[in-house]
Amino acid sequence: MSPLAAIALGANLPSPAGPPEQTLSAAMAELAGAGTILARSSLYRTEPVGYADQPPFVNAAVALSTTLDPEALLDFLLATERHYGRDRTRDFPNHPRTLDLDLLLMDNLVLDSPRLTVPHPALAGRRFVLAPLCEIAPHLRHPILGKTVAELLAALPDEGSNRCGAVQKLSPPQGRH
Ligand code: ATP
Ligand code: CA
Ligand code: CA
Repeated sequence: MSPLAAIALGANLPSPAGPPEQTLSAAMAELAGAGTILARSSLYRTEPVGYADQPPFVNAAVALSTTLDPEALLDFLLATERHYGRDRTRDFPNHPRTLDLDLLLMDNLVLDSPRLTVPHPALAGRRFVLAPLCEIAPHLRHPILGKTVAELLAALPDEGSNRCGAVQKLSPPQGRH
């Protein structure tokens, strides 16, 4: 069976595809170019984290079965970001962006290279990532922490950017593909 990759999507600026909701829907479909999409989460509206004076984010997650190796998958994600107008010359951490695609988990892979860290180092501390992922893949297990996505989500404190109300479901699930 091909490895299963969990990918996070986020956006809070309009892209050439339209507002963030449309960008995320289009980008989710485009991920089929990297493998087979097994599940797509609902879209979530989330409060910005870190730098607060910016529009809210729209976040989602996709489960992708892929034969690409991790670095090739990262290249695909970065190319897709560029396709939707991501301008890294103007980026700084937690700043507004047209599209952000992060590789969260890839089966039991543990990797730390200059370009790529898997599992994504911030996964366990972000409700805006765990909530969409839990909708489609609650039983995926973090290979370092040994906990499932559902367990990581349940363990988050209900305060600050991890308040339950800071991450709200926008749309119904988009079905399985
Ligand atoms: P964060 O990683 O905290 O969510 P970010 O998504 O804003 O921050 P970016 O500016 O989008 O960070 O990415 C910077 C670099 O991170 C990318 O160019 C990529 O090489 C590297 N990177 C390392 N691990 C990952 C990963 N698991 N998924 C995506 N990019 C990664
Ligand atoms: Ca990110
Ligand atoms: Ca990123």
